[in-house]
Amino acid sequence: MTAVVIDGREVARASRARTAQRAQAFKDQHGHAPGLATILIGNDPASEVYVRNKRRLATEAGLVDVHHHLSADVAEETVAQLIDDLNADVNVSGILLQLPLPKGLDRAGLIDRISPAKDVDGLTTVSQGRLARGVSGLRPCTPAGVIELLDTAGVAIEGAHAVVVGRSELVGHPAAELLLRRSATVTIAHSRTSDLAAVASTADILVAAAGIPALIGRDHVKPGAAVVDVGIHRTDSGLIGDVRFDEVSDVAGWITPVPGGVGPMTIAALLSNTVTAAESLTR
Ligand code: ADP
Repeated sequence: MTAVVIDGREVARASRARTAQRAQAFKDQHGHAPGLATILIGNDPASEVYVRNKRRLATEAGLVDVHHHLSADVAEETVAQLIDDLNADVNVSGILLQLPLPKGLDRAGLIDRISPAKDVDGLTTVSQGRLARGVSGLRPCTPAGVIELLDTAGVAIEGAHAVVVGRSELVGHPAAELLLRRSATVTIAHSRTSDLAAVASTADILVAAAGIPALIGRDHVKPGAAVVDVGIHRTDSGLIGDVRFDEVSDVAGWITPVPGGVGPMTIAALLSNTVTAAESLTR
């Protein structure tokens, strides 16, 4: 193995510690801590685990945990009303609507109902527009975590060729935007890219966010490249990513493991966004 393994758990722990300090400073000044509201609809087991972890780490960072669990057959107006109430609640600075939503609910409509000032997932049309324009706003958590991992590892982004594999609204597309803002030369590859290995192997920074287990192998990686694996897949032999860790770690310069890479960073970015939202709302 030649690659430096970037320890996302450690970087996330340090990030959460900084967030906890900011939350305490906010509380000292305003008399109450920033609040994170989580909305979970239905009983998807993976979503339940994610939300539980977000709430636990929010509490550990000193944030106020506000949780709403609605049944899968809830009326859309009920969800909309809840979001309106949370938008108006001065004790709530961040609102997270856990995805995916049960069938029948208008995902885009409900996301856009969240006040952009409290959009700690960075998924509203306004937040995405701000990102595309390069003006300040709340950034999507997983892409923000990817950038923080690269920065912490000392990977140079400016001037680098970054290839993002995947163009999803949640990860691939905003990750490409953030890298572009940091002056990388950015290529987005996707399911119709004709020769993925040819494109990916020119990357100095390769972000794998296709949602396909073990898609990226040795042939996709330029020697010395930084490889960030956003994929997470449950298999009989445990969690794996979009990257074949064992073979890629022989050629890459840096690599993030799964688990313990990007995953913990996503929650750390969510908590940081919540404090940022609280600070902006009271400014
Ligand atoms: P996530 O939001 O978790 O990154 P999605 O499953 O929503 O994942 O999106 C997967 C993205 O990956 C899509 O943009 C899709 O075009 C892209 N993708 C799927 N298959 C491939 C492939 N073989 N090569 C490159 N990109 C792919």
